[in-house]
Amino acid sequence: MTKQVVKFAFFDLDNTLVDQSGALREWAEQFVADRGIDPAAVDFLAVKSTTAKTWTEYASDFKRHFGLADSVEQLVHDVTMTYPHFFVLDDAVSEGLRRLRAEGWRLGVITNGATTMQNAKIDRVRLRGLVDGVFVSETEGARKPERLIFERAAAGLGVQLDHPYGWMVGDSLEADIAGGIGAGLRTIWVQNERALTAEDPQPHHVCGSVADALKLLADA
Ligand SMILES: [Mg+2]
Repeated sequence: MTKQVVKFAFFDLDNTLVDQSGALREWAEQFVADRGIDPAAVDFLAVKSTTAKTWTEYASDFKRHFGLADSVEQLVHDVTMTYPHFFVLDDAVSEGLRRLRAEGWRLGVITNGATTMQNAKIDRVRLRGLVDGVFVSETEGARKPERLIFERAAAGLGVQLDHPYGWMVGDSLEADIAGGIGAGLRTIWVQNERALTAEDPQPHHVCGSVADALKLLADA
């Protein structure tokens, strides 16, 4: 009897499987409309999300910038409770995940973030039913690029790291690509607006979208 080779892939969530930046922009559009703030503020709110380290920092900045009377806590509550509703999962992505699983792949999501927030996004787009496991850094007690979170995810999927058929797909060179390489996985970088330089962790493949990465895996 031949031993069946189990192929597996882990995916980052934000700005890989789902368009986090787009969701935040949509939330910001609604927020400024509701509050009667200058629509130009959407750019500030959408861009600030990539530079603020925490939601508290983000909310403090926009409270100050727009002179809002709300407390920082109220603003954090507003954004974190409502912006998950703006997430969508493209049909090409859900179809790509279904196709891989139909071919016997085991799939997992590994995401850095707060458990409540990440689970809200995942449940919003009904991603849980399309994968074999979801691993959130706050729950797992380890963050990408630490190898420990990949070890926990591999154990959850019942697969082995350092495996020629194991993959990590993500948009962050530091968290996803360096993390994936450190865990002995092959890596696909979902390219964002920045270019790859010689100093960066070097992904095995570069794709323009996660849909393209899913096609690449289907042929792997
Ligand atoms: Mg990401």
